[in-house]
Amino acid sequence: MTKGFLPYGRQTIEDDDIAAVAAALRGDYLTTGPTVEAFEAAFREVVGAGHAVACSNGTAALHMTMLAAGIGPGDVCIVPSITFLATANCAAYVGADVVFADVDSDSGLMTPQTLAEALDRAKGRRVRAVLPVHLRGDVCDLPALAALAGEAGAALIEDAPHALGSTLKVGNHVERVGDCAHSLMSTFSFHPVKTIATGEGGMATTNDPALAERLRRARSHGMSRPPGADPWLYEMVEPGFNYRLPDILCALGLSQLAKLPRFIARRRALAAAYETALAPLSPLVRPAARPEGSDPVLHLMTVLIDFTAAGKTRRQVVEALTAKGIGSQVHYIPVHSQPCWVAKNGPLDLPGARAWYDRCLSLPLFPTMDDGDVARVVEALQAALFR
Ligand SMILES: *Cc1c(COP(=O)(O)O)cnc(C)c1O
Repeated sequence: MTKGFLPYGRQTIEDDDIAAVAAALRGDYLTTGPTVEAFEAAFREVVGAGHAVACSNGTAALHMTMLAAGIGPGDVCIVPSITFLATANCAAYVGADVVFADVDSDSGLMTPQTLAEALDRAKGRRVRAVLPVHLRGDVCDLPALAALAGEAGAALIEDAPHALGSTLKVGNHVERVGDCAHSLMSTFSFHPVKTIATGEGGMATTNDPALAERLRRARSHGMSRPPGADPWLYEMVEPGFNYRLPDILCALGLSQLAKLPRFIARRRALAAAYETALAPLSPLVRPAARPEGSDPVLHLMTVLIDFTAAGKTRRQVVEALTAKGIGSQVHYIPVHSQPCWVAKNGPLDLPGARAWYDRCLSLPLFPTMDDGDVARVVEALQAALFR
C-alpha cells in the first residue's frame, strides 16, 4: 500500500526520467534543440497523427489552435460546460465568443444532442469551432459531433488532455485520440496529474501540413523562414507568442512517452479494481457512464454519488476522506456558471451539467497506486457515506 497521503492524481517520475533531463542539461541546447523534434515524432507515432507541435502547456496548445484556425472577434466557439477553464478561455484570448453546450448528466460529455441544442442557441451567429472534451478519458461520439459541426460550417477541435491512449471504436476500426480522424486539431497537456508529465507541457496534433506550419508560427513569435532564403532571414506575417517547450522538458516527455504502455496498463487495472470494489455501493455510488465505442485510459476515476439519498453533503464526504489521508477533487464546476461568463453571456441553465456537478467526485487514480490503495479508498468512501 502506498504510504502517506493519496492525492487524486500524481506524476510517476523514475530514475531514468531524471537521467534523461540531466543529459539534456549537459547538452548543447537548453531550449529548442533536437529533442523537441524527437519528442514530436514519438508523440505523432503514439497517437497516429500526421503532425505534432510541442508547446509550453495545454492552454498554449488550445490558444495556438485558435490562432492557426484564424478564429477571432465575432466568431463563436462551442465549449462543453463541464471542462477545465482553459477550454473556454482560449476563445476569449482571440476575442471570440463562447456558447456553452450542456453535457450528458451521467458521462459528463458533450453529446450529439447537447451539441445540436447549443448550435440551435447559436443560430445566426458565426460558429467557427466546436471543442469537445474527452472528460476523464472517455471518448466523445466524434463522428456524430463532426457531422453536426460540419453542417454548421464549424471545425472540430478536440481538447484531449484527459485521453492520451484512449481509443474509439468506429464501425470495424479503432481510432486513437489525437489521430484527428474526425477533427481539425487535437490538444494535450503534460501537467503532472495528466497521463504523462513534463511539469508544464502541451502538444497540438493535426493531419494538415499548412495548419501544422501555422501552429509552429504561433508557437514562436509568428516567425517563419522562407525556404531557400538567406540564412539570417525570418518573416512575420502576424504576431505570435513564445509558447516553446524546452529541450529539457522534451527529454522528460520522450522518457515518459516510452513508459506510456505501462502507465496505460496500470491505469486500466486500477480502474477495473475500482469498478469491482465499488459495485456493492451501487446505486448510491456509480462510476461515470461509459459512452458507446469508448475504450478509455482513465485520467480520472470519477464516481457519481447520490448525496441526498446518502444524507451526507459532498463537503462532509470530502472532509472524511481527507481525514483518512485520501484526496479527491470535483471535475468540474460548470464553466458557464463562472462569474466571468455569467457577466459576459448572461445567466444560463444547463440541467445536464448541473446534475453532473451535483454528484461528481474524482477518487485517487495514478500508476504508482496499488490494489490495496483502491480498497482503502473504497472502504473510506463507504464509511463516509454510511456511517
Ligand atoms: C489540463 C487541461 C487543460 C490545460 O492544460 P495545462 O497544461 O494545465 O495548461 C486544458 N483542458 C483540459 C480539459 C485539461 O484537463
